[in-house]
Amino acid sequence: MARVTYQYEAPVSQTLFDRAASVTPGGVNSPVRAFGAVGGTPRFMVSGTGPYLTDADGREYVDLVCSWGPMILGHAHPEVVAAVQEAVARGTSFGTPGEGEVALAEEIVARIEPVEQVRLVSSGTEATMSAIRLARGFTGRAKVIKFAGCYHGHVDALLASAGSGLATFALPDTPGVTGAQAGDTIVLPYNDLDAVAAAFAAHPGEVACVITEAAPGNMGVVPPGEGFNASLARLCREDGALFVSDEVMTGFRTSRAGWYGVEGVRPDLMTFGKVMGGGFPAAAFGGRADVMASLAPAGPVYQAGTLSGNPVATAAGLAQFRLLDQGAYDRIDAVSAELRGLVSAALAKEGVAHRVQNASNMFSVFFTADEVRDYDDAKRQESFRFTAFFHSMLAQGVYLPPSSFESWFVSTAHDDRAVEQIAAALPAAARAAAEATA
Ligand code: PLP
Repeated sequence: MARVTYQYEAPVSQTLFDRAASVTPGGVNSPVRAFGAVGGTPRFMVSGTGPYLTDADGREYVDLVCSWGPMILGHAHPEVVAAVQEAVARGTSFGTPGEGEVALAEEIVARIEPVEQVRLVSSGTEATMSAIRLARGFTGRAKVIKFAGCYHGHVDALLASAGSGLATFALPDTPGVTGAQAGDTIVLPYNDLDAVAAAFAAHPGEVACVITEAAPGNMGVVPPGEGFNASLARLCREDGALFVSDEVMTGFRTSRAGWYGVEGVRPDLMTFGKVMGGGFPAAAFGGRADVMASLAPAGPVYQAGTLSGNPVATAAGLAQFRLLDQGAYDRIDAVSAELRGLVSAALAKEGVAHRVQNASNMFSVFFTADEVRDYDDAKRQESFRFTAFFHSMLAQGVYLPPSSFESWFVSTAHDDRAVEQIAAALPAAARAAAEATA
């Protein structure tokens, strides 16, 4: 097989995609949904139940995207749906404080010990943007260190991953971000402590913060090396910079207390999103009380939002949290481990070079024989094999992230039947990966 053939058509989705393309750039409201990396027709979904999604052509899929993380209990969990219905009936937005947002903040503070105070926002992008502004306002410094391959939302200053070598000031990754907006961003290779130490040495007293994904999932899953996060925290402390841990993806997923619960490294600020909103737009940033005290109206650093702490979103998040006990995480961890084993065994059987990497229950498959420790490593994989693998799985009713640079997500709803369906699809997909050519 020279090229990937799309193994069946999706005529209703294709019609919707054509309609969408005439009114929306690229036909989607977030780029990865367009299937640009894998080709073919993006599936327009009409409903979800437990571990399953149903598309506009009436086909059902086992879902391994879970809305890119939020749907940790599966789709349309009855208790979350009931909480949302009850909240909606009381009114959808008041523009005043409400008890739900207090309860959600209390839940976050109770779960994550370094979070003494928290501010609710509506997206992960807003959370990281606000955390950076706060770090700059609190320290009176301008520069931000980030890592290539770490995604923190579409914040202007963080849409920069170009530039190699230490202390290379980043060129913006996208038109529309000016040199001035990205000029204070220093981009370094992930898992490279020497580069971080050298950047601090080159810019003493100038760095406001280091921001990192707590355990990166946006270049595929690349866990931090032993002691990496702890060393980042130490280097920040020694220089007077803040350590910002982005837990938008890992938060309340990789454990009850997110990646902090796995590693125990104490950040100054943290950002959250995805799981905490129960499928609605809710996100947050929080951390040290003395830092958070700089935020308006308590302090001078401005930040606000019409829909922040929205009562429907907070009701969904709280309902989801009520069900996320240790048993839920044990279940997700077990399903993730089983799937990792099944995927690896299927690929090995076909002689396909691969690495299945995980950070707790988040995992992804790299089509390379070598360990992936940073973005450059990730880019060296044979992505064309993923394309073939992806389309085979899709044709067999398994919905994977449509890119080899994304984490796969499971939920408590992924039961034995769902796992068996995935297992049954893997041999043919592994064969397709083996036969694929660039
Ligand atoms: N930070 C991380 C680690 C993320 O994975 C994402 C989104 O995938 C964001 C921030 C941005 O969140 P949102 O898409 O809600 O703006």
